[in-house]
Amino acid sequence: MSDVSGAPLMRPADPVPWPGGRRAAAAFTFDVDAESAALAIDPTSGRRMSVMSHQAYGPLVGVPRLLRMLERHGVRSTFFVPGFTALRHPGVVRDIVAAGHEIAHHGFRHESMAGLDAATEAVALDRGLDALEQVAGVRPTGFRAPMWELNWHSPGLLDERGFLYDSSLMDADVPYELAVDTAGGTRSLVELPVSWGLDDWEQYCYLPDLSGSGLVEDPQKAVALWRQEFTALREDGGCFLLTCHPFLSGRPGRAAALEGLLAEVAADRGTWTTTLDEIARHVRGLGLAPRSVTPPDLDEVAAHRDPGV
Ligand code: ZN
Repeated sequence: MSDVSGAPLMRPADPVPWPGGRRAAAAFTFDVDAESAALAIDPTSGRRMSVMSHQAYGPLVGVPRLLRMLERHGVRSTFFVPGFTALRHPGVVRDIVAAGHEIAHHGFRHESMAGLDAATEAVALDRGLDALEQVAGVRPTGFRAPMWELNWHSPGLLDERGFLYDSSLMDADVPYELAVDTAGGTRSLVELPVSWGLDDWEQYCYLPDLSGSGLVEDPQKAVALWRQEFTALREDGGCFLLTCHPFLSGRPGRAAALEGLLAEVAADRGTWTTTLDEIARHVRGLGLAPRSVTPPDLDEVAAHRDPGV
């Protein structure tokens, strides 16, 4: 099957059966961006002591608070750690590992990959891998692109490095096998889809001149949005995948509100709450047919553009 330009048609992801007859899956994930996120937006932000302190709150205070919260509910989580964060805050990264959580790859300097060529992107991937190995002795199975900005060539680079899964795309409610075309034939990467509505950055982040509008949401309102998504995804047999940042959701009132949702989801016997690595391994074991996700034909777009525009 192909579209009008001859490109293969994309099909939606298939429903996924969950272990033990459960109805849905859930993962509470944390991106330990710390200073790297501000430095990636503007390298000169490193000269701003207060901005750096806002970001350092994540590893210094937020992560320990969130680790205590996860322990209270017996939930294992996935922490995405840029290499730069690992090198600057090695103790907290080791604490995350010691508490039994998963460490995954989140770039080296939290560099946006938008427009990066494959060679430059490969250097960031390898530097990130080296840092996580050096600090925590970890070889991650998962990757999340900083700012969820994946390039069309990125899945091939991840496959070359032996990654099992990626968590940066947004075209499904359930995980799927993403087809990766390589010189040796078609391979696949498990994709664990995310969405901007299930991210605390949009709710809480305000950094003058760097990010956010200045509106900082009420944690009860943010968590109500996430709970509504969880309830509906559970009905649909989907995978609820929440992304929080310790420098944001590690603040006391926000962590308390998040804990209310975590407690409900973790206690729900119909929901499998676990790490992304475990969800990805489950999906890999299902033997799903890989989905091809293809770019739009830009020549076709150009050919049909209104000549007056
Ligand atoms: Zn990030």
